[in-house]
Amino acid sequence: MSASKFQEIDQILRAHQRFAILGHVRPDGDALGSQLALALSLQALGKEVRVWNEDGMLEKYSFLPSAQLLTKPPSTPEDFDVAVALDTAIQNRLGTAFAAVRSAKIWINIDHHLSNPGYGNVVCVDTSAPATAEIIFHLIKTQGLPFNRDIAENLYAAISTDTGSFQYPKTSDRTFEIAAELIRTGLDVGRLNQQLYENYPRRRLELLRELLHNMRFQQEDHVASFSLTLKAAAELGVLPEDNEGLIDHLRAVRGVIVAVFFEELFDGKVRVSMRSKTEAVDVCAICQKFGGGGHSLAAGARVRGTLAEVEQRVLAEVCANVKSLKAGLA
Ligand code: AMP
Ligand code: MN
Ligand code: MN
Repeated sequence: MSASKFQEIDQILRAHQRFAILGHVRPDGDALGSQLALALSLQALGKEVRVWNEDGMLEKYSFLPSAQLLTKPPSTPEDFDVAVALDTAIQNRLGTAFAAVRSAKIWINIDHHLSNPGYGNVVCVDTSAPATAEIIFHLIKTQGLPFNRDIAENLYAAISTDTGSFQYPKTSDRTFEIAAELIRTGLDVGRLNQQLYENYPRRRLELLRELLHNMRFQQEDHVASFSLTLKAAAELGVLPEDNEGLIDHLRAVRGVIVAVFFEELFDGKVRVSMRSKTEAVDVCAICQKFGGGGHSLAAGARVRGTLAEVEQRVLAEVCANVKSLKAGLA
């Protein structure tokens, strides 16, 4: 990301007073941590901030410093000088948080999704960044914006979760250097990782058992998938946040190239989550065919139809991609 882009954003941040810091529906660690980090830095500058997403703070991330700042948006829209959308590939993924901004003089779009079309007045999209939080870190550090241990803890949680604990391919030497700089503010990495990865409710494992029970493999075991019905979710009493990361069990199998998770939703749609192990099968492109988006190795979509219909259509597309990859390799 160019220095002038960060300068432009810095000037806007310093020149205005009232900010809406927004993130995507069904938030993850990157969205929540990036939102809180930027909000805390702006608060330290004396700015007024609202930090919203459609679902509010998740139980499992409620240990993050100043987690209480992050709430569901109010039903009555408010006016802002500046609205900042973080980690959000397309504007409508802001959901009700978008509707709660009646007006904003300037919209800033800070993100790392390949499918981001560049909405807003100021666009800062770096697809090489493994997490939006890495872009927020650079913004804060290059522009001398307020930085402290609470901000560092939010950024660390965001980067750790979006890189699959520093494993995914976009994790770079810079990512580790940033992590080191964050830890130097006094973070307790052992405690933080326990809160992030060893504090799941028992029902998450019960959900995994249900998913593994119906997993299937196709295309010579190169395509693996499992599904969650509304009925099973209700019986297990699971929350939407419980399934974050479970798809990684499928991707982790030797030979699997693409993993797919289908989740039946209340609104007649199915949430599709997709992971690939190789740039040669771009799951962002596949998900875009179904109205979604994301990154080349991790993407998603919400597809109208019954669970069986959506499974059939999406898996046919995935299998065709994997088949043509194999044909090309043969
Ligand atoms: P998920 O499978 O929900 O963890 O999402 C994987 C990646 O794809 C994330 O970076 C999401 O932001 C993105 N993504 C998921 N669903 C959608 C969607 N419906 N539209 C655009 N991007 C999405
Ligand atoms: Mn995200
Ligand atoms: Mn992200």
